[in-house]
Amino acid sequence: MMAETPSSAQSAPVGRRFARRVYPARILGLGLGFFAVGAALIPLSHGFWVWFLLIMYAFAWPHIAYLYATRVSDSFATGKRQLLFDSFCGGLWVAAMACNLLPSAVVLTMLSMNNMATSGVRFFGWGVLAQIAGLLLGVAIFGWHPQWDSSLTVIVASLPFLVVHPLAVGMMAYSFATRLHEQKNSLKLLSRTDGLTGLYNRRYWQLRAAEEFDRSRRQGNPASLIMLDIDHFKEINDQYGHSIGDDVLETLSYLLQINLRSIDILGRYGGEEFAVVLPETYAKRAQDIAERVRLAVASDRFGEKQTLHCTISLGVAEISATMKDFDAWLNAADKALYDAKAAGRNRTCVYRESNATEMNS
Ligand code: GH3
Ligand code: MG
Ligand code: MG
Repeated sequence: MMAETPSSAQSAPVGRRFARRVYPARILGLGLGFFAVGAALIPLSHGFWVWFLLIMYAFAWPHIAYLYATRVSDSFATGKRQLLFDSFCGGLWVAAMACNLLPSAVVLTMLSMNNMATSGVRFFGWGVLAQIAGLLLGVAIFGWHPQWDSSLTVIVASLPFLVVHPLAVGMMAYSFATRLHEQKNSLKLLSRTDGLTGLYNRRYWQLRAAEEFDRSRRQGNPASLIMLDIDHFKEINDQYGHSIGDDVLETLSYLLQINLRSIDILGRYGGEEFAVVLPETYAKRAQDIAERVRLAVASDRFGEKQTLHCTISLGVAEISATMKDFDAWLNAADKALYDAKAAGRNRTCVYRESNATEMNS
């Protein structure tokens, strides 16, 4: 049980989740608490009604609380009110036990731990006030005849609660922390990838590509960049529809992945434009890889009926000493891509410093 603050739009499901999480903890806590409190009540000559209330509270209340909290619209607020009610009852039972020291300390501490773990310091403070209110009502009912001593029977009856409840809370805190960690990882992945193709999105690709640019420059290693764009994609969309266009993008990203190495940094740069950084790769080798990809796309059939032809144009640029930053590298590959388009598409052009580009088609 850990802190949870619902936004207004999500409060109902969050509240029900909160109730579901508190439910087993309450069954366990009150079930074990029954023996601690019961053992302390035995020597005190309370009426039958006190035992009846204790049994109802320990064994019926967790189910009533759960059923009620999961059926009302403000489950979260209800769940918190129920925790305060628990604190109030804790104070009452302490008075009923004539402040028998060990079970009283255990009951009040466990209730406070629940309040702190579920809702933080402020709520813990409200819980303490509720405990005091319960204690005062209890003293009004049962009188103030404190009997602090805890017999061996009471100590033994309190032990299960003392041992099991903190372990259970610790286990819940651990599973909550693990889930939070997993959610953080999947959010990180989502923020880096493109929803349609699953490739790196532009922002993350640029980050990784710029890192590779810096690393290659620092170490004096070669690296090449390929920019590629689908030819006449607008026509494909117009002729076959946007959803077939999406299928083409997905298939193309698959073809790129199977034709590249795992160290290559591949991303969806724009709508139908992709970019790849090839570490440790000279322009000649990058050109061969680009051609392999181009031919794989040109020979594939896309769409539901596998009848759609599609081609891509590619621009290749190797890192050179004259490029002052990552953008210069990107512009060089973009220029080569532009040349490939201008020369008739379905081809690969390699950027040359002399301003001329070398071409494959
Ligand atoms: P060119 O050969 O010059 O590249 O021609 P083109 O038609 O591909 O031209 P352009 O790059 O201007 O067109 C890109 C089109 O890609 C326009 C847009 O509708 C389409 N597009 C962009 N993103 C998506 C997408 O996620 N799904 C689909 N189906 N189409 C997209
Ligand atoms: Mg295009
Ligand atoms: Mg384009």
